[in-house]
Amino acid sequence: MAEPVVRLHDVHKVFNAGLPNECEVLHGIDLTVSKGEFCAVVGPSGSGKSTLLNIVGLLDRPTSGSLSISGAETSTLDEHALTQLRGHNIGFVFQNHNLLSGLTAMENVMMPMLGAAGFFNEGMAQRAAALLESVDLTKWRDSMVTQLSGGQQQRVALARSLTMDTALLLADEPTGNLDTKSADVVFDLLRKANQEHRMAILFVTHNPGLAERCDRTIQVVDGRLEV
Ligand code: ADP
Ligand code: MG
Repeated sequence: MAEPVVRLHDVHKVFNAGLPNECEVLHGIDLTVSKGEFCAVVGPSGSGKSTLLNIVGLLDRPTSGSLSISGAETSTLDEHALTQLRGHNIGFVFQNHNLLSGLTAMENVMMPMLGAAGFFNEGMAQRAAALLESVDLTKWRDSMVTQLSGGQQQRVALARSLTMDTALLLADEPTGNLDTKSADVVFDLLRKANQEHRMAILFVTHNPGLAERCDRTIQVVDGRLEV
């Protein structure tokens, strides 16, 4: 059987270890996500959803337990190796899109490719243009991202997250700040990425209607998964 895209075993996360404000936020998470699985991640605020996504996204390390991404066990990797693994295997979309405000839509979408290659080539511009077309933003590709609406900015962020054709996409409340119509558009684009590229997606949402449309629901309550 193919390796799962994500595998966590007994993952704990403690913040401020050894200090008076020490707190354990994740209490032994076991989770396997297979290729092409579109998962809603739901649960109350403060339950640990973002902490979980940050760990899966190699932006933060577990305190204990094991995590493998596309078959690579991560606990022994140094920062450089984690950055490589992240860049080639994981796309991100955040609630606040995290676009670079001094750049155009095209420039933002090209960023991950520039970062990975360390140089620019015309193929990158073509790929960015095609991705912006796929999120219906061709008309806006040379606009500064600050001139775009919230929904449009989130579509730029989504196009950016698809540039590396990763096996995994982490989307932390990408529709949280959007009106219903824009949220639906972003959701449909996530579904399209899932279907066309067989991307596994972890999609954090407080919207029960959108969660229901995913293939699977992962419920986080007080730092544990409810099954
Ligand atoms: P969610 O995304 O489900 O709202 P989070 O993962 O952001 O939850 O937070 C879970 C808990 O962990 C919260 O109590 C939060 O205050 C705490 N927490 C998150 N990040 C940190 C941090 N860097 N340092 C200390 N506590 C943190
Ligand atoms: Mg959160």
